[in-house]
Amino acid sequence: MIRVQHVAPDTLGAALGFIPGTQLLAVNDRDLEDFLDWEFLTADERFVLRAQLPSGEEIEYDVERPEGLPLGVTLEPPRIRRCANHCDFCFVDGNPAGLRQVLYIRDDDYRLSFRYGNFATLTNLKPWDLDRIVEYRLSPLYVSVHATDPVVRRWLLRNPEAPEIVSQLRWFGERGIAFHSQVVLVPGVNDGPQLERTLTDLYALGAPVLSVSVVPVALTEFSKHELVRQPTRDECRAALQTVGAFATRSLTERGHPWCFGADDLYLQAEEPLPAEEWYGDFEQRENGVGAVRYLQTRIAAASERLGAGEWRGKRIAIATGAAMAPLMPQVVDGLARVTGARFEVLQLENTMFGASVTTAGLLPGAAFLGALRERDDFDLALLPAEAVNDDLVFMDDLDARDLAAQLPMPVRFSYDFADALIERGTRNVERETARPSSAFRLPTSAFGEGSG
Ligand code: SF4
Repeated sequence: MIRVQHVAPDTLGAALGFIPGTQLLAVNDRDLEDFLDWEFLTADERFVLRAQLPSGEEIEYDVERPEGLPLGVTLEPPRIRRCANHCDFCFVDGNPAGLRQVLYIRDDDYRLSFRYGNFATLTNLKPWDLDRIVEYRLSPLYVSVHATDPVVRRWLLRNPEAPEIVSQLRWFGERGIAFHSQVVLVPGVNDGPQLERTLTDLYALGAPVLSVSVVPVALTEFSKHELVRQPTRDECRAALQTVGAFATRSLTERGHPWCFGADDLYLQAEEPLPAEEWYGDFEQRENGVGAVRYLQTRIAAASERLGAGEWRGKRIAIATGAAMAPLMPQVVDGLARVTGARFEVLQLENTMFGASVTTAGLLPGAAFLGALRERDDFDLALLPAEAVNDDLVFMDDLDARDLAAQLPMPVRFSYDFADALIERGTRNVERETARPSSAFRLPTSAFGEGSG
């Protein structure tokens, strides 16, 4: 059963008399479980819908929907599928007390994987889910593989029931489902020969595995440090060599690199990032793969509009985490050239999770407040959009509007700088890019990246 949260005026949903609280029960006698059923089963031009109004009245509608006409119905958020694993590096376990409630939810939900690109392990699928993924062609999915050796994977996931991932992916691949995959690199567990094996197995699956990223494990002060540690520089370098070997092979055989190191892997290895062409369509950018190069391409693409002179001579702060700050000069130099503004990158320490958490999207509002409160020399501050949720609230529950009221300069939230700088006449606090999905996402950012 799913419930209507909002109905847009002058739409088919409004004409049918839906109001918030209306329960959508079945389409063509198929019960509706969630938003996927709703979207797929109502895609036809004609269908029979059974619904119950908040008054309790049950109505059957014979709906004719001209192609392309939106129903205008927003559903209540889905009940998130909880994770059945207990990874030692789980970010949720690494959360301190007192954060937004959503940050304590371990989601492992193929529906959110399809819709929003969240990574899922596919360890909690029922036969009904398998059928559904194939029937609705939920492709591509984003899958946390970590290791293809079943013993190692089960150990990493702390789940002795986890099915074999290779046969699972093969089964889906034979039915037309494709995947982007990731390996969260845990030194001493799934690096070295295990990484070789994982990449070999994934590569052998052929076209259905669209890409694989290797992301160094990210830990907080609250993580289980006795069980898992961050890779050293040399371990990151070794992983990059393996990644590079597979990428070279794929370039030759398939015409694209296929295998990518996360920006953070290059950063921790102290090695330069590949050129932007390497990343193709930046398909794992949300996973911190090619995020820097993506920013540079966005700025270059916007340079004509950015160069109008509005920012010439202005001082602009870019507040970000330690992961991205060292890479920022590569981004900011181009930005300064086209805008004529002077940028200062402020590298903030995460006062909530500890200094080891370097992702900008996980910075608490208090960190921005502390860094900017006394800085009346700035004309503008750019903050990472992923640091706030859709209600403009930071990890530590500080409202962005309250933050802005305490700062001496206007504040704008941005994914790629160009978005915030092109906008004119904005309010003091402006979220430049609305992302309806962000409440379900592990915060990742154009300013930094997370892994999970
Ligand atoms: S890291 Fe992901 S798969 Fe592992 S326990 Fe946490 S939510 Fe589950």
